[in-house]
Amino acid sequence: MKSALPLVVDLSGRLVVAVGGGPVSARRVRAFAQEGAVVRVIAPWVCEDLRDLVIDGAVEWQAREYAGATDLEGAWLVHTAAGEPHVDRQVAGDAEGLRIWCVDATEASATAVSVPARADVTTAHGRVTISTYAAGDPGLATSLRDGVADAVTQGRLDLRRTREHRSAGWVALVGGGPGVDGLLTARGHQLLRSADVVVVDRLAPRAVVERLPASVRVIDVGKTPGHHAVPQWRINEILVEEAGRGLGVVRLKGGDPYVLGRGGEERHACEAAGVAVEVVPGVTSAVSVPAAAGIPVTHRGVARGFTVVTGHESVPGLPTGGDHTLVLLMGVSLLEETMGALVAQGRSPDCPVAIVERGFSPTQRTTVGTLSTIAELARERSVESPAVIVVGDVVRLGPDWERARPA
Ligand code: SAH
Repeated sequence: MKSALPLVVDLSGRLVVAVGGGPVSARRVRAFAQEGAVVRVIAPWVCEDLRDLVIDGAVEWQAREYAGATDLEGAWLVHTAAGEPHVDRQVAGDAEGLRIWCVDATEASATAVSVPARADVTTAHGRVTISTYAAGDPGLATSLRDGVADAVTQGRLDLRRTREHRSAGWVALVGGGPGVDGLLTARGHQLLRSADVVVVDRLAPRAVVERLPASVRVIDVGKTPGHHAVPQWRINEILVEEAGRGLGVVRLKGGDPYVLGRGGEERHACEAAGVAVEVVPGVTSAVSVPAAAGIPVTHRGVARGFTVVTGHESVPGLPTGGDHTLVLLMGVSLLEETMGALVAQGRSPDCPVAIVERGFSPTQRTTVGTLSTIAELARERSVESPAVIVVGDVVRLGPDWERARPA
């Protein structure tokens, strides 16, 4: 090709004639048929893939040699991959004479039409087609296509549209999972890609936030050493204010928004102000952090259920059997009181306990003991927040119990 203009054509209901029955022809014929073209294959024999398309009724096959320009009449597009150079040249020449665009799949330098490499990907704004073309180097076109497709699907390309056409602001309460971006949902990633403002917690997945395009405003409402957290009423106000300016706001929270995360309050504040709000569940630390330490919260024959409760205030009446797992969040500062309260409620002082600090981080650490020993062990090891405390016989199923053999 001397010069190349990319075009997107609508083939639906239009005749495409494909000469040749091999795999190259099969691949293209399938693509033409998928676009709704009426495809006629002319070839003395066809490979298995093409035969399948014929059997499915997706294409018509005339089992014979190419017979000349009359075979091309009525076609909007011709594709030739006969495998015999003189046939392909003849088809291309005949098409030229009839002024029908012809893809000569066997002669990259002479063809009048080329089919670019293609990928269809889903973005926050719908499905798009990525087409790439690198004259004479299909391998380069393919690599380029894959690179762009990856950048789009992984959110490395900022695809947000200009703001003028935005009709109304919105808020999404997105559960960020326990801190690693692999455990943030696909919907969460998708909303982050179209957000103008991201309001983050201390325990939200930081790596995700750091990868946001520079044009996204990040508002940090989490506690940092020396600074107090922004109070809840003010967080609610920020969400409503930003959405009220017509912006898309992602409120990125640790774990799941509705598990000890005050997601309900934030949703109500948005609704009361007439702001559209979507809640995207997340992987809660209550289940995933014990899992990161090899502890299942239920296990056949060991525990039939579990209770998630805040350890930040005095615990309510809870099941006392070792076969009912307790998961305490925010429980480090009142650890000793809480463990004492559980024994007072009737749980065995020998009931196993695990404290998993900084789940999923490189410095994750598990401390195991029993209701009667764990507070002392935690003090010795300077256990600190954030940590998930698991109480129950399931703790014995994790690898740390075997190693430490605390009881
Ligand atoms: N909505 C969150 C919980 C918020 S409360 C969720 O569903 O996970 C905050 C508490 O969660 C912390 O005090 C700690 O107990 C726990 N937590 C969250 N992420 C954690 C992590 N990566 N490692 C250990 N504990 C974590």
